Amino acid sequence: MAESVLSKQEGAPILDRQNPFESMMARFDVAAEILGLSPGVYEYLRRPVKQIIVSVPIQMDDGRIKVFDGYRVIHNEIRGPSKGGIRYSPDLTLDEVKALAAWMTWKCSVVNIPFGGAKGGVKCDPSQLTRVELEKITRRYTASLLDVFGPDRDVPAPDMNTNEQIMAWIMDTYSMHVKRTETAVVTGKPLLLGGSLGRREATGRGVMIVTLAALEKIGFRPKETRVVVQGFGNVGSVGAQLLSEAGCRVIGVSDVTGGIYNSSGIDIDAALRWVKEHGVLNGFGGGEPISQDELLELDTEVLVPAAKEDQITSRNAGNIKAKIIAEGANGPTHSGADAVLQNKGIVVIPDILANAGGVTVSYFEWVQNRQGYFWPLDQVNSRLERVMLEAFDAVWSCAEKHKVTLRIGAYILAIDKVSQTLKMRGIYA
Ligand code: NAD
Repeated sequence: MAESVLSKQEGAPILDRQNPFESMMARFDVAAEILGLSPGVYEYLRRPVKQIIVSVPIQMDDGRIKVFDGYRVIHNEIRGPSKGGIRYSPDLTLDEVKALAAWMTWKCSVVNIPFGGAKGGVKCDPSQLTRVELEKITRRYTASLLDVFGPDRDVPAPDMNTNEQIMAWIMDTYSMHVKRTETAVVTGKPLLLGGSLGRREATGRGVMIVTLAALEKIGFRPKETRVVVQGFGNVGSVGAQLLSEAGCRVIGVSDVTGGIYNSSGIDIDAALRWVKEHGVLNGFGGGEPISQDELLELDTEVLVPAAKEDQITSRNAGNIKAKIIAEGANGPTHSGADAVLQNKGIVVIPDILANAGGVTVSYFEWVQNRQGYFWPLDQVNSRLERVMLEAFDAVWSCAEKHKVTLRIGAYILAIDKVSQTLKMRGIYA
């Protein structure tokens, strides 16, 4: 199927076999084929509208001048200003940023927020930089992209190795240049500078909401549901805590230091206290140690991969026993595992739906900044719940209609919305 669309496209990017984002584009192609996208629209949606490379020179603490590569890719802005994180990584490539930007277009479209997709970053190793050097890189990178960023144009957010402080420096640099305080130019800011209540927990909360919705669809009550969570960082720990509060029994958790299993249920609050104090799960005594591979293959109703990409592959998909996989991480399932999971009847709630709670509350932050009026936490959470449940129902119905997995259903929904908008707006000039 996918080949027939691809073969129409001379010069379509050939993605590296090892590139996890190839997995994403493989699903895009399947959805595009089902939608019957014309070759022109297909080509339009596959390509980013803008790719910017900037040199970021700074004076290091020892007086030397060093120049870093900075990138910003706007994949699509047909539905609104582009939205997407900024990552600092020594291995960053333009191809990676391009693929991540496309991912954001589909994610924003699935949850129906009025943003396009973007991504950016600087090729640098923050662990080798001082705080002053990091601030200089951030401010110079922002200054180079002043014509790109803006509340109505392109709105960055934190991603790998960037945080609230870096968003604060971006906001300040932009504000100094436009000569007014412009909080809406970035999201994921500290609360004091216009961040939103509930943003930190938003992705894990979204994972909880769609997991409970999927459980209801397949006739399971939280009280009779076991949950296993891989990754105990922002997404995994909040997801585990909220699912546990909803009545589920979390029997397995892991982080980079290893896994813990307890058939009677892990005390998530105690695990969180341990991680707050020690930084990692290692040494937490609330269960027996278990390997990363064993954790993924535990007998459970729900598995939440919330660590990193390509954890479920054709190698281990056959051993997964969960009835529902809720993808907290981006790209935790390689496309090679899709058919195996589908044949086993496992319901996979795809990343572009399951972890979209984060970008949804980023959108809320942007709205609050533009209103200059801040919402209480219960309002943020109830609006997030409404957005996530509407998206879940839309994806479920789309998948049923086309007799495909939820993942392909989500891509069909997302691509259809973007391509319909394109058709209505038309191609300028
Ligand atoms: P984080 O750095 O806070 O946590 C990552 C966790 O995964 C840590 O506990 C780490 O120890 C663990 N981990 C790393 N490698 C592991 C391995 N091999 N096995 C088991 N555990 C491992 O990151 P996060 O913000 O929670 O993000 C996790 C994933 O969710 C990423 O894929 C990210 O892109 C995605 N995501 C995050 C957000 C967000 O708002 N934070 C939004 C959307 C998607």
